Amino acid sequence: MNKFIPLSVPNLKGNELKYVVDAVEKEWVSTGGSYINDFEKNISKYLNVDEAVACQSGTAGLHLALILSGVTSENEVIVPTLTFIAAVNPVKYVGADPIFMDCDDTLTMDVEKLKEFCDVECELVDDKLINKTTGKHIKAIIVVHVFGNIANMEEIMTISKEYNLMVIEDATEALGTKYISGKYDGKYAGTIGDFGVYSFNGNKIITTGGGGMMVSTNPELLKKAKYLSTQAKDDELYYIHGEIGYNYRMTNLQAALGVAQLEQLDKFIKIKKDNYNLYKKGIQNIDGINILDFNGDINPNYWFYSLIIDSEIYPLNIDEAIKYLQSKGIQTRPIWNLIHNQIPYKNSRAYKIEKAQYYLNHILNIPCSSNLTTEDVNYVLSILKNI
Ligand SMILES: *Cc1c(COP(=O)(O)O)cnc(C)c1O
Repeated sequence: MNKFIPLSVPNLKGNELKYVVDAVEKEWVSTGGSYINDFEKNISKYLNVDEAVACQSGTAGLHLALILSGVTSENEVIVPTLTFIAAVNPVKYVGADPIFMDCDDTLTMDVEKLKEFCDVECELVDDKLINKTTGKHIKAIIVVHVFGNIANMEEIMTISKEYNLMVIEDATEALGTKYISGKYDGKYAGTIGDFGVYSFNGNKIITTGGGGMMVSTNPELLKKAKYLSTQAKDDELYYIHGEIGYNYRMTNLQAALGVAQLEQLDKFIKIKKDNYNLYKKGIQNIDGINILDFNGDINPNYWFYSLIIDSEIYPLNIDEAIKYLQSKGIQTRPIWNLIHNQIPYKNSRAYKIEKAQYYLNHILNIPCSSNLTTEDVNYVLSILKNI
């Protein structure tokens, strides 16, 4: 067996090598250098925002966003249970407790349950949302734009205004996804809440090896994010530090990759869209399998493709399908195990989790790299069909 189609791998055929070599030749490889500034500038321009702050990872960006939202060990934070765990762990880094929410059929946070939870389980006291069970102040909400879809930001912003919640958008999977109708027409995922965080990990739509980027609707807080990410240095010469900072800045080498990758983002999205549509067309002819749609009111970045397998009709369940496809050289994976069931979170509050469990049992992610050829897609389809 020599055929191997990976799930999601980097695509580095643009100016990556040229810019990285340039950074090395100029001997600017650490946390200073022109590529970092260019990468921040180019991302801001792409997203139509004034500024962006590069950081070491998406996780680091989420950690800073929580600190800057004022979340402490006195607080609780509303999070999804269906997500990669890096969206939730930073809540614990600041000593706070998560409250887990269910997803809807787009895999993003169920806003009806969110509203119900706030209305029924909590009360507003002095403009603070207090969890009636614990007496704790819920200060923020982390929404994850799962697989390049976008959560219902209109509802989430309305609820967060009503209850004074800071909104942190985990847009790590959704760089390039944007609204094309409604209240936020033209706005990109990540640019609506108080903070938006992107990731450039190796499997994301563009990569810097590892890295992240923050944006904010509050320029003061964004400035502070940069300050905290660079060891909170008040004086460059005498090393005066006014606060506890972090070593969370991106390096110039990573940013060199990022600048080259960003040049190709729209091309990658186009390839991913075309491959998604190819899959979708082929899957219509396979009984027991559907492909998850993206929201109708957005231009998604088509980052990940999700098959929904009905094993009462399709001959294989998720586990069997993974093994079978692996034997044919096709890498797939189930969706993440739900976070509220993981050991570190098993004592946390989870509110009426239903759909997330259903999707955990039915979703299979299939190869989606921007390197994927039409031939690859047709091969995957033929294996799925001729089982
Ligand atoms: C990738 C990812 C992160 C973390 O990003 P890193 O850059 O790997 O730290 C956080 N949340 C979600 C939903 C992700 O997919």
